[in-house]
Amino acid sequence: MNTNKPNIFDVIVIGGGPGGLSSGLYASRQGLSTLLIEASLLTGGQMLNTETIDNYIGSKSQNAIELSEYMFNDAIKYGLEVVSGEKVMLLSKVGSLFKINTDKEVYHSYSVIVATGTKHRTITDKDINGVSYCAVCDAPFYSGLDVAVIGGGQSAVESALLLSELANSVTLIHRRNKLRNEYDKQLLYGRKNINFYWDNQVKDIKQNGKKIDLSISDNITLSFDGVFPCIGQDVDVSFIQDNLVELSPSNKIRVNGLQRTFTDGLYAVGDVVEFPFNQVAIAVSQGAIAALDIYHFLKYVRTT
Ligand code: NAP
Repeated sequence: MNTNKPNIFDVIVIGGGPGGLSSGLYASRQGLSTLLIEASLLTGGQMLNTETIDNYIGSKSQNAIELSEYMFNDAIKYGLEVVSGEKVMLLSKVGSLFKINTDKEVYHSYSVIVATGTKHRTITDKDINGVSYCAVCDAPFYSGLDVAVIGGGQSAVESALLLSELANSVTLIHRRNKLRNEYDKQLLYGRKNINFYWDNQVKDIKQNGKKIDLSISDNITLSFDGVFPCIGQDVDVSFIQDNLVELSPSNKIRVNGLQRTFTDGLYAVGDVVEFPFNQVAIAVSQGAIAALDIYHFLKYVRTT
């Protein structure tokens, strides 16, 4: 489905994590002229912050950087164009065309898939082994060991519950004595191996051999085999022109079951979407859904 108009892509994918790469693969495989724009020099998104991807079916227990490379090589095999090291500053719509201003260029397309993901808020800039932002991915590595979960939102609660099924002990450290959802306290109190430090803020985190030492506010230092900070995520959707998407209270993009936003031709996939679970498998499948739906959307646009 070529446009015969130079410089106008059928699809532009913003973001090169698993959701973006999968979108790019599916769109280009259907003969759509597709450009993927990634702000970093490397594609892979949050996978680049993880050591091992253990729960992506068919990939065994895979080094995350290798998996990112395999995904990239797969994504480009049907002609996907990729520009990396360009940050999208503005996504707007002019008539039926999308306009994307990066910090270097201007691009146009008939459809756009936003796959910009999220960034986990961190408790440290230090490179510390045993700090994980994904209990669903990494809980099995801590079977029989002692772990800490930091935070008091839904992710902290779910991570603590999941970890308590495998770990020897789970210590929940929260800066207040209230959870975001106080009803969750009963669930946590029901687990014998979950301990609590309420009203405590992590002041310092240090590698101590294979252990991680956490200093908390009342001058107590606790030692753990693993630490799971669940202190929220930052979503950057500030580049999207007002009124093109509807946002959730946590700034995530609302889509329907086909990953469509309410703007014709504008889709979102992966962690930037309001969805209860953040997983590579989910981002990849959402990318495929969006690209398949765009194929039909573009056919409709061209015949009307
Ligand atoms: P969140 O709801 O923003 O909670 C973050 C928690 O971390 C809060 O308890 C906050 O404390 C604490 N916190 C923030 N900054 C901190 C810091 N610098 N030091 C210490 N603690 C800090 O984040 P989330 O749990 O990741 O959830 C994000 C969104 O996804 C929410 O809308 C949530 O409902 C949703 N979610 C849904 C599901 C599900 O439906 N199954 C699962 C997970 C997440 P305060 O309470 O004091 O502010």
